[in-house]
Amino acid sequence: MYLRPTLYKPCRLYQNYAQPQFAALFYVFRICGQGVFLYFRPETLDEAVHVLAHSGGQILAGGTDFFPALGDRSVTGSVVDISGLRELRGVVTEPQYVKIGGLTTWTEVINTPLPQCFDGLKAAAREIGSVQIQNRATVAGNLCNASPAADSVPPLLTLDAEIELASQAGTRRLPLGDFIVGNRKTVRQPGEILSQVLVPRTVENAASVFLKLGARRYLVISIAMVAAVIQKDSTDRVADARVSVGSCSAVARRLPTLEQMLIGVPAGPGLGSLVTTDHLHNLSPIGDVRATAAYRRDAALRLVQRALDECVGSS
Ligand SMILES: Cc1cc2nc3c(=O)[nH]c(=O)nc-3n(C[C@H](O)[C@H](O)[C@H](O)COP(=O)(O)OP(=O)(O)OC[C@H]3O[C@@H](n4cnc5c(N)ncnc54)[C@H](O)[C@@H]3O)c2cc1C
Repeated sequence: MYLRPTLYKPCRLYQNYAQPQFAALFYVFRICGQGVFLYFRPETLDEAVHVLAHSGGQILAGGTDFFPALGDRSVTGSVVDISGLRELRGVVTEPQYVKIGGLTTWTEVINTPLPQCFDGLKAAAREIGSVQIQNRATVAGNLCNASPAADSVPPLLTLDAEIELASQAGTRRLPLGDFIVGNRKTVRQPGEILSQVLVPRTVENAASVFLKLGARRYLVISIAMVAAVIQKDSTDRVADARVSVGSCSAVARRLPTLEQMLIGVPAGPGLGSLVTTDHLHNLSPIGDVRATAAYRRDAALRLVQRALDECVGSS
């Protein structure tokens, strides 16, 4: 996008949007004579939720979905650039949860030492665009954009991830599975910022895998993708199984029938061969420019089988 902004002094307009302590955050830009937008760059979460509540602005993080989604349109209205909120960056391990700040980039996820159950999430992170995209793009941006092909959703679903939303009213938590409700639809309210992703520390030693099928090897949107987590018990049987599939329904889905069937089964060679099309009954793949619905269903079956075999081969 071609941005040649003219910076206007924050003056009368500012009074409508923010209290005096937030004056430094406020700029007005004119882009190539096409109109005016208000640009805020808060430095703390408190400032950000305040400015968001008063401006009704659109949130900008890494911008790797935000700007492509504009197409030929200019930015309009208000933009709250949250990329300066250092408190939302990084991964912290606490007794109950591993907490991933919403503004943590995919490169940071890849480079952070994490337990084995995060191997699938790290593999997904390495598949997001290119290194340049991974350096800029954030975890929260991927979840809030809510694309059916968002690579982080299947592995985070298998980790039983929860998300935290911060607003002027406080914070609320909900399971990731309840947050994304449709193709690019979430239950996020306009004044809310996804502040962190919380992963319960329940299966840290479990093996985890992420497999993605695209039309080429790199920089590709998924045709189908699968994440799996398998925890063995002391007798080498499956104690906990979590499998999810993305790009084969409007929202990535766990496969509960398959997960239940796997409990107690020997966690060894041939685990994948137990998977049948019946176990994928809750998927609803569509046909589009990337693949037919039938191809996606078949690809999902093969990927689930391979993911389970890889989990037991590597655990
Ligand atoms: C060339 C290219 C290749 C790509 N390849 C892939 C790929 O292979 N796999 C994949 O999954 N994605 C891919 N993407 C998409 C994108 O990089 C990811 O979805 C990324 O994680 C988005 O993060 P961001 O910080 O850039 O989000 P932004 O673009 O800043 O924001 C995305 C959306 O989320 C909202 N938002 C952002 N942060 C928050 C927050 N904390 N709270 C509330 N709302 C928020 C924004 O308002 C916006 O609607 C690709 C993008 C490009 C340009």
